[in-house]
This record gives sequence, C-alpha cells and structure tokens, in this order.
Amino acid sequence: MSSRRQFIKQSIVGAVAAGSIQELVAGPRNTKPKTPIVISTWDFGVAANKAAWEVLKKDGRALDAVEQGVKVAEADLSNPTVGKGGYPDRDGHVTLDACIMDEFGNCGSVAGLEQIAHPISVARLVMEKTPHVMLVGEGALQFAIEQGFQRENLLIPSSEAAWKEWLKEKKYKPIMNIENKSFNTDRLPGNQYNHDTIGMLAMDVNGNISGACTTSGMAFKMRGRVGDSPIIGAGLYVDNEIGGATSTGVGEEVIRTVGSFLVVELMRQGYSPEAACKEAVERIVKKKPEIAKEIQVGFLAINKKGEYGSYALQSGFTYAVCNAEKQDLIIKGKHIF
Ligand code: ASP
Repeated sequence: MSSRRQFIKQSIVGAVAAGSIQELVAGPRNTKPKTPIVISTWDFGVAANKAAWEVLKKDGRALDAVEQGVKVAEADLSNPTVGKGGYPDRDGHVTLDACIMDEFGNCGSVAGLEQIAHPISVARLVMEKTPHVMLVGEGALQFAIEQGFQRENLLIPSSEAAWKEWLKEKKYKPIMNIENKSFNTDRLPGNQYNHDTIGMLAMDVNGNISGACTTSGMAFKMRGRVGDSPIIGAGLYVDNEIGGATSTGVGEEVIRTVGSFLVVELMRQGYSPEAACKEAVERIVKKKPEIAKEIQVGFLAINKKGEYGSYALQSGFTYAVCNAEKQDLIIKGKHIF
C-alpha cells in the first residue's frame, strides 16, 4: 500500500474511532467548553431564544437549540410572517419556507410548503433522512406526511381577513420597508407587518454553531415565489470554522448577493460580524442604489468567539440576544439610511 493510501486509511480509521467520519471532513470539534449563546432576528426572537436557551443551558447541541427556538415563532399565531398564521400568497395559500444548517455543513431546506405548521422540522429531516438539500411544494408536503407530520389549515381568520382586505385593491407591489419612518403603514391591512423572518444562530458549549431560518415570506406574494429564507447561502449560512449569518428583508436582493455566505466569507477575511453585515448591505446599495433606499434588508452574524453584530439598510431592524447573563436582550440594529 502506498504511504499516501496508508495515511488516508489510518486517518479514516482514526476518525471513526474518534466518533464520526464527519470530523475528518469538518475538522476536529472544539474541545474547550465555550459560553453558549443564541441570537435571532426581530423582537419576536426573544421568546424563540428562550426556548433555544433551554437546550443550550443543558449543554445541548446548537442544532437542537435552533430548531426548538424557531418553532416558537412558527407556532405563534399572533405572528403573521412565520409559520401557522402567516399571511398567504395572493391566491390565499399559506406557503412556508425554511432551512437549517449544522456544524458539519449539513443542511436541509423546504420551500413553498403548505399545510404543515413546522417547516423547520421538515427541513431538518430533509437534511438527516434524504440525500438532498431542498424539497419544494408538493414533494416537500409528500415527504412531510411520510415522516408523520399532520396536515392542518394554516390560514387563520385574522390572516384571511387581511388577505381579503388586500384583495380589494390587489396591488401587486410588495411593500417591504414598514420599519422605515417614511413608510405609510396605514396602507397595510390591519396595520400589521407584511414581512419578517426569524433567522437564528446558536453556539453551544462545545463551540459548535448551527443556524435556522423560517418564514411565510412576502405577504400576498405571487404563487410560487420563493425568497432568500430557505436558500442556503442567501437566508442562512454556517461555517463552523468561522461563524454564521442570517438575513431578513427583501429576499430577492439577498439572493442576488448571496448575502449570508458573503457575510461569513467576510468574517473569514477578518471582518467583525457587524463590519461583515455592513459590507453586505453596502453591496446591495452599490448594485441597486435606487431600490436599496426603498426596501429593508438586515443581516445578523456571529463568529467563533461568540461576538455578534448586525447591519440593516433601514432603521427599525432589531435582534434578540440570549446567553447565561441575559435572556431577553433586544438590540437595535445599525443601519445605512
Ligand atoms: N426574507 C423574507 C423573504 O424574502 C422576508 C423577510 O424576512 O422579511 O421571503
């Protein structure tokens, strides 16, 4: 046997003996205990972080923490932008998008999923039980049912009423910057949010990072429209050597700039989480200065030291932070305009 082949064989035997062949691919896991932390987008991240913290404080895995965390937002019927209770598309169908990524670079995603209240858990099973990364529409629903998820009606009365109100004018002009003071929120049915996604990043006691992102997407969107949230690299990206990033806002602009991947790659070059997020929003401005003034996009990031930061196009973006010291911290994101 050549010495190279022997080396590879020995390495594989060693890695399997150490617990996982994935460790050979992803590099050694951190051995030093770290201070766990979880961060997530918007004020509704506080409740979600608390559920994630229940996992992290018992030395649980970041992957379990982010799944349990964002499920809280998915189940919150007062939240019209995530999970059950989310605003429907322009034809009245609630279609959900979600993705998840772990410390080994494994990822799973669903898009345009209907009738299933917890798309994040379906995305996790796509990651764990199929050789694929992404399932969409009917196929995603079929897979969810095969995995034991129950169908349910996700269109609750208040969201249906908002949709019917919207149908009166049927203006297909997605309005995404409601946090911007200049925007007239009276035009929104029920004066409510018409977008917002929960993107969550957690680091566990082993220093491993995972992320999750889930949304009902843009309110009253075209049937079949998919934003950035379920797209690995756009709405979410994790590289356990460097850190993780997630986004919220107009998904089209985030997809065009592969935003979350960009933020992580900038952190690899030495940018702080906040500086990386700032550079990513500045790229959006540079490419489309006119559009950028009218829309909202926000990025949130964490690095391997547990440092975190955000940057948004407009004012109004907030994120929630939870660690051993404080479980309900809300921070106002810095912004360009
Ligand atoms: N990024 C989501 C989408 O484009 C919406 C949002 O976060 O506001 O579907």
